[in-house]
Formats: sequence, structure tokens, C-alpha cells
Amino acid sequence: MSLADPSTTFPEVREAVRKLCAGFPGEYWRALDRERAYPTEFVKALTGSGFLSALIPEEYGGSGLGVAAAAAVLEEIHRSGCNGGAAHAQMYTMGALLRHGSEAQKRKYLPQIASGALRLQAFGVTEPVSGTDTTRISTFARREGDRYIVKGQKIWISRAEHSDLMLLLCRTKSRDEVEKKSDGMSVLIVDMREAVGRGLTIRPIRTMLNHATTELFFDNLEVPAENLIGRENNGFKYILDGMNAERILIAAECIGDGRFFIDRASRYAREREVFGRPIGANQGVQFPIARAHVELSAAALMVQRAAEMFDAGLPCGSEANMAKMLASEASWCAADMCVQTHGGFGFAEEFDIERKFRETRLYQVAPISTNLILSHVATHVLGLPKSF
Ligand SMILES: Cc1cc2nc3c(=O)[nH]c(=O)nc-3n(C[C@H](O)[C@H](O)[C@H](O)COP(=O)(O)OP(=O)(O)OC[C@H]3O[C@@H](n4cnc5c(N)ncnc54)[C@H](O)[C@@H]3O)c2cc1C
Repeated sequence: MSLADPSTTFPEVREAVRKLCAGFPGEYWRALDRERAYPTEFVKALTGSGFLSALIPEEYGGSGLGVAAAAAVLEEIHRSGCNGGAAHAQMYTMGALLRHGSEAQKRKYLPQIASGALRLQAFGVTEPVSGTDTTRISTFARREGDRYIVKGQKIWISRAEHSDLMLLLCRTKSRDEVEKKSDGMSVLIVDMREAVGRGLTIRPIRTMLNHATTELFFDNLEVPAENLIGRENNGFKYILDGMNAERILIAAECIGDGRFFIDRASRYAREREVFGRPIGANQGVQFPIARAHVELSAAALMVQRAAEMFDAGLPCGSEANMAKMLASEASWCAADMCVQTHGGFGFAEEFDIERKFRETRLYQVAPISTNLILSHVATHVLGLPKSF
């Protein structure tokens, strides 16, 4: 394992990301937040810089970097006060295609995803009834000749309105027809440009943060059979690897958020004077900041370890989960501390802290909630009896 301080790895990448983010200050994000609008210019700049194609191999037009480098990109975006949530899926959603797609599919899509000509930002898994129990999804793709006919519903599918393609997990065999409940699912590439209005309806959901999330309704949507990734009924396995990358990268965003809160709180505590001295001279103010730093530093080490294991091709499901849990909890504690340190100003929109506070809260629920991580650790790592 690397002994490098996790906040200093890939220094050139970090420096370039910081420069890019400096062009998108708090005013930019605040205006979008008020309107719940998509950060089109920011996403364009990120795409143009090539950062979003970090994980695509060079032979398909990407930069061929690993998850550890991609994590540094997202951490710096979040530390700068920006938000990678509008585009982070462009980095990892293509993983299922890269690892399990046919050569023809890879040649068709990956170079265009790498250049930004095609946006693959949407990943359709969650359904209103199944919730976290993915094996209970019921969106069904029925094969008819050279196409699939898709019927069902998805919820919380982020960026669907801003994506050209979506990876869709659906059932091709019902749960009671298969021996193992995770069998019988398949992954399809849905071309949103052709699908919307022809069997796919997208309904935006307004949430406590600006995240462009939506509900999707499939009413006999036709998808060409050639858009199936890998083998029919094997789709659940294909998305698992991608989910590990997603968890590690979202953990890196939490680390970035945490550093944002600690940077802001430390600065304010040095500058703000009450009772004739900086508030940061009081241990009641400085200890929570120090504690947030300690907790975040430990979480960052777990994120670094999970990323390095992923890049070495080692099984890292447990590490990715633990990294996501520790980082999301550390960033949330840092957020709470930062509001407290700022007193009334922690609630003022113009300080950006209340916005980041709302944004970082998401990550204890999505992409997987803390309880489900604890359940994974209890049963898969510690051998405790299964509760479901
Ligand atoms: C803003 C946002 C964006 C999202 N983007 C996407 C996306 O792009 N694509 C996508 O597919 N999904 C997306 N999601 C969905 C997200 O992954 C789920 O919300 C999350 O996994 C939790 O699932 P759920 O909401 O169905 O909660 P539920 O499964 O209904 O669970 C509710 C609560 O009960 C707890 N719980 C459930 N079962 C157990 C148990 N057996 N033991 C202990 N506790 C339990 C959970 O931990 C959770 O806290 C997004 C969600 C949000 C809010």
C-alpha cells in the first residue's frame, strides 16, 4: 500500500482540477441550486479537460488512468466547493461496457464517450417497490426477434435528462424462474435520444439538493437486441464491479466535501473574533475541527486502499463499502461542525456551507445506505447469520 498522504497523490491532476474549478465559484453553484438547474458549463469544461474519460483505456480514446487518479479528480472538485454529482457517472458507468461488452460495442461507444460526444451519465437500477433489494426489480425486457420490449418503472435515476445513453438493469427472467435470485437480470444500453417519447417517459423529482434525479416509465420501449451487454441473464454480476468503482469514487467526493468543510471552518475560526479573541482559540471550537480532520484522515486512508486494490484487480467489495461508509460519515460530521463553527452564518446561502451540507447528506443513503453496508460487513466479512 502506498505511504503517500492521500491528499497529495497525483499532484498535477489535482492542480489542473483546482484551476478548472476556480472558474466555477460559489455564485455559479448557488444560482443553479436556486433553480435546480443542471451545471451544463461546468460539465462541458470537465469533459473538455478529459478528466471524465480518466478510466477509459487509451486505445479507446481515454487517458487510461485508474480509480485512484479518478478519485483525486473528484476529491478536488468537491474540495473546491463544486459538485461532481452532475457528471461523475460518465467516469464509471462505462465499466460494465468496458469489461463485459463486445469489441464491436466498445468500438462503437467508448471513443465517443471518451471525447464527450456521447454522454453515458445514467445508470438505471433502483425501482420504487424493490428499494435496495435489487433482486426484486421487476422492469422486464421481453425478447422479440431482434429487439427487447421493456416494460416497468425506475426511480431516482439521476441525470437521465442529460444523458444520451443509459445502462439499464432489468429482468429477462422473473425471480421465481431462477435458482439464484441474482440470476435472470440483464444489462441493456438504452439510447435515450431515440427512447424518450417512444416508450420512455422521464419525470424529474425535486429533492433537497440539486441532483437532476428522475423517475422513468417504460411502456413497451423497444431496444435493439444488439444493445445487450454480455450474456442474457448474467447482468447482475456485470454491474457489481461498476458499483465498487462508484462507491470508491463517491467516497472520494465525500473526502473532498470534508476537506472543504474543514478548510472553511479553520479559516473562519482563525478570523472571526468574539470576546476579543479568535473563536478558534477556544478549545470548544477547535477540538471539533481537529476531530473532523482526524476522522476524515482515517476515512481517506480507507478510500486510498480500496482504490489501490481496485486498480490492482483485487476483490475489493468490502473495502469499497467500508470506504464509502467511513467517508460519508466523516464528511457529514465535518458538515455539522462547519455549520456550528460559523454560528448564524452557517445558515446563510452566500457562505455555500448550507448548500454543501445538504449535498453531502445524500451519500449516507445513495448509492447504498449505511445499514446495507453494515449488513454486508456483518455477513460477508464477519460470518454473522444473514438477516435477509
Ligand atoms: C438523489 C438520489 C440520486 C440517486 N441516483 C440513483 C441513480 O442514478 N441510479 C439508481 O439506480 N439509483 C439512484 N438512487 C437510489 C439510491 O441508490 C437508493 O435510494 C438507495 O440505495 C436506498 O434505497 P431506497 O431509497 O429504495 O431505500 P430502501 O431500500 O427503501 O431503504 C430505506 C431505509 O431502510 C433501510 N433498510 C432497508 N432494508 C434494511 C434491512 N434489511 N436492514 C436494515 N436496514 C434496512 C435502508 O438502509 C434505508 O435507510 C438515488 C437516490 C437519491 C436519493
